[in-house]
Amino acid sequence: MKIGLLKEINAGEKRVALLPANVARLKEKGLEILVEQGAGLASAIADSDYTEAGASLVSREQVFADAELLLSVTIKGDQAEQIDAQIQSGQWLLGMMDPLAQAQQVAQYADKGVTALALELVPRITRAQSMDVLSSMATIAGYKAVLIAAERAPRLFPMMMTAAGTLKPARVFVMGAGVAGLQACATAKRLGAVVEAYDIRPAAREQILSVGARPVELNIEDSATESKGGYATEQSDDFIARQQAAMADVLAQQDVVITTAAIPGRPAPKLITAEMVKGMKPGTVIVDLAAETGGNCELTQLDVEVVENGVTIIGPSNMPSMAATHASQMFATNIENLLNLMVNEGQVTLDFEDEILKDTTVSHEGQIISPRLRDVLG
Ligand code: NAD
Repeated sequence: MKIGLLKEINAGEKRVALLPANVARLKEKGLEILVEQGAGLASAIADSDYTEAGASLVSREQVFADAELLLSVTIKGDQAEQIDAQIQSGQWLLGMMDPLAQAQQVAQYADKGVTALALELVPRITRAQSMDVLSSMATIAGYKAVLIAAERAPRLFPMMMTAAGTLKPARVFVMGAGVAGLQACATAKRLGAVVEAYDIRPAAREQILSVGARPVELNIEDSATESKGGYATEQSDDFIARQQAAMADVLAQQDVVITTAAIPGRPAPKLITAEMVKGMKPGTVIVDLAAETGGNCELTQLDVEVVENGVTIIGPSNMPSMAATHASQMFATNIENLLNLMVNEGQVTLDFEDEILKDTTVSHEGQIISPRLRDVLG
């Protein structure tokens, strides 16, 4: 089968879905790899690195015309428009396409006869961990969020005892202790901050402790905060109001707040109101990792730095792309592992007895396959 690696064209997207090392290994499995010219440049990979690994370098038109399976990191915005305009019935498509929030949009692949696989739908089970782009990208986002906060904060993170006096360590509070939040805790801890974290899932407590942070207890959680798949469930307005009230005092003591709370396919829960920001110390920095889905803070504006009562609120988009080389390496490893599950004698096939492939497949032979997407579509 011919795999076509597309160059990302969306503004700010520097990642690429395969590295030369993946190309070489996939070739050994009998796959042919077509790489669009310049696909890896933003991740610091030259075209010649791909050809040396055994790929054929081609134009974008040729990728669309000749590839049987198209690979792209993100299938959103301009990239999605171009793909949707050029993809043909019978072709396969693999990438991140936000299937739960864009359900109607991705369902059109079934009508077009396209076999589409959405990486966001890879199940969160142990066997699928090596294919889980949400986790690998969240790892990078959590790390970067802390570096951005450390750079923007008007204070240092570690305690320092100097001839010019003792500097107190920064207090960092992480809201949402999933993959990104735990990485943020670990990174802030490594920089010497005093780190606390909070999550509505009771299971997160142990994980917060395991990365050296202190869990904050609000004592308002109940058993309905976690779904079967380990995700948080969407909470009622009443719960969110109680959470906000209990959280205001905790926030008032922090120097840095990193928010990562998310519900798959839903707008981000509002954890910090404008009123709560008023109660925070001037100089506090909030980095809102949920900015792309509406933000955990009421005042967050995507890619705009907001300053309110001396509190700086930063809501960057596409944080994994800020570390494009490593983000691409992790992303590509996830893709290679997923392809390995499907490759048989140089052909890519789908076995829906396999939970990973069934859950990840948006459409095949005109049908919607993913049970989660079917639920959303009703
Ligand atoms: P996510 O990005 O969907 O959400 C981030 C965090 O926000 C979650 O921990 C969630 O509980 C929390 N959250 C949601 N609403 C909140 C609120 N109102 N207040 C505070 N926190 C709130 O989550 P994720 O990082 O993708 O991870 C979700 C779960 O999946 C975790 O339990 C994680 O350990 C698990 N996981 C399992 C695997 C695996 O087994 N293969 C892989 C990755 C993640």
